[in-house]
Amino acid sequence: MSKKKALVSLLLCGAMIFGALPVSAEGRTYDDREEIVKTGIDLTAPTTLTIAKPLKAVTTTAAKYYITGSSDPEKNLTVNGVAVEDRGRFGSWGVQVNLAVGKNVFTINNGGTTQTVTITREKGDSGAAKTTKLTAAKPTANDYAFAGEYTLTCTAPSGAKVTAKVGSQTVELEQAVATAEDGVPATYKGTVLLEEGSISSVTYTLSFNGQSSTVESAGSITVFAADAKPTVRINQNSTTVYETNDTSSNFVAMLNEGATDKIVELGDNLAKLSLGGWVKKEFIDVVEGDPSIENKIEKVSWELGEGGEYLILHGSVASTFKSYMNSEKVYLRFYNMKGVSNFNVDKSELFERVQVSSDSRSTTIELYCKEADSVLGYDVRYNEDGSITVFFNAKPQLGSEDLPLESVTVVVDAGHGGADPGALGVLNAAFGPTEDDITMAHALAVQKRLESLGANVIMSVPTTLPQNKKVVLHERVQITRDAEADFFVSLHCNSVGGSANDLKSEGSEVYYYENVSRDFAKDVLTALTENTGRNLRGTYYSNYFVNRNTTCPGFLLEMGFVSNPKEYDQLRSEDSLFATANAVADGILNFLQ
Ligand SMILES: [Zn+2]
Repeated sequence: MSKKKALVSLLLCGAMIFGALPVSAEGRTYDDREEIVKTGIDLTAPTTLTIAKPLKAVTTTAAKYYITGSSDPEKNLTVNGVAVEDRGRFGSWGVQVNLAVGKNVFTINNGGTTQTVTITREKGDSGAAKTTKLTAAKPTANDYAFAGEYTLTCTAPSGAKVTAKVGSQTVELEQAVATAEDGVPATYKGTVLLEEGSISSVTYTLSFNGQSSTVESAGSITVFAADAKPTVRINQNSTTVYETNDTSSNFVAMLNEGATDKIVELGDNLAKLSLGGWVKKEFIDVVEGDPSIENKIEKVSWELGEGGEYLILHGSVASTFKSYMNSEKVYLRFYNMKGVSNFNVDKSELFERVQVSSDSRSTTIELYCKEADSVLGYDVRYNEDGSITVFFNAKPQLGSEDLPLESVTVVVDAGHGGADPGALGVLNAAFGPTEDDITMAHALAVQKRLESLGANVIMSVPTTLPQNKKVVLHERVQITRDAEADFFVSLHCNSVGGSANDLKSEGSEVYYYENVSRDFAKDVLTALTENTGRNLRGTYYSNYFVNRNTTCPGFLLEMGFVSNPKEYDQLRSEDSLFATANAVADGILNFLQ
């Protein structure tokens, strides 16, 4: 291992060429910068004076405006005679200006070339926007309820008359809170009594200012008998289970498509399942015939695979579960499961023993690792024959000196892409690359660096993705699960809205979900900020969708701010591509050494 360690430290030195520490030329063990940064993605923008925002004269009620554009970085830049200090290396700039009521003319001068922009500030009225329409007619998506009282709500102009028709019942809704002026959007509420059955939609009628209109709710209502415990199936992978009837509460589990359970309670937007947590109603489907969810396990088997091991529970239901992993064990608690007793893990290279316990509601399987930190992650899969497979991802060994990552698979996830440009950036899409161009260029650089170390790299977003297509978030997670990948690296750029002083937001931050990812994420972030000189903002726990992945260590890296001219230009540089590629590769090497 000592040779490998030496290699890693040499590589780290190589990666530091952009950091504050001076590094001797012989400190680098590879000389492929040109190869790595040659991504084919155009990150250039004009180096002449342009105004990207606003693209034409604008009118606003705001007191400040953030003007941005490109310039010739070799020449002075002034806005109304005041020098622009914060400019990117390629000439991108942004200035927050104060607006007086009326016309504001700004002259931008770049070494004698001038452009003007006119921003008109209108005096705002009372500030409250008004409406003549009825919106947010409940249910806005297919809803579930128990027989009994059901609350209808919608948003409509204050001072209106709103009625709702459900089947043969018509009720008048009441405005929940009075507003100062008629026409300001207000919430209206009313209650109906529902009986078991299904209601395809609710018809709302709005009467306002002598006009009348009707709106159908977008969703239907399935009404269960008051004492029913309907069987439901999760319809989306990585569905969050919340601790309470509130999406801002802690999450206690994460369920995959097919997970089957019973509803025990219903809230406005969430349903409580028998495993003891709440999921969004939009992520459940009712299972016809209300089948039993008791899962009697007939047999338990264990299999060894190339990248890990598999526990197979031969039963008939896709049981819901709560789980976690730490350096010593993997904990899995399956609900409504029976028939598992302590089984043999002699075949396993990862685990030395298993402890199975059960109560009236669940079966808990705790698998103790032979060696701390030898398991990268796990994945619970529901099979068509009713069995459940749990995959345990084995930490790969470093390979040869030349190709240390030859047995490592990495999913590199370029944020956004295709129809989703992500954040527009300082040059506002009209003149320069958007977040998705920048993330793809960095992802390609990371891919090349990892491949030069022997890794098998899977790009979650193809470079050929058509402009009208997207790779949605759960597809990105699914790619990682299907590949039984060892690492997942998601690259993004940060951005703040134009009303804040965008110049001031800068730096890199990283988000992780599983504990196993925390040090890895932190390590990559530290290397990235050292390599680029960017401000280190922090390492944070988060349930961003792409982070909700238990199969392998991973993170979502916000590399820098595309709303900050200096960082926007740096993110478009070869330095940034090379620094990021090295930070990620070094982080993986460190993790595995
Ligand atoms: Zn993003």
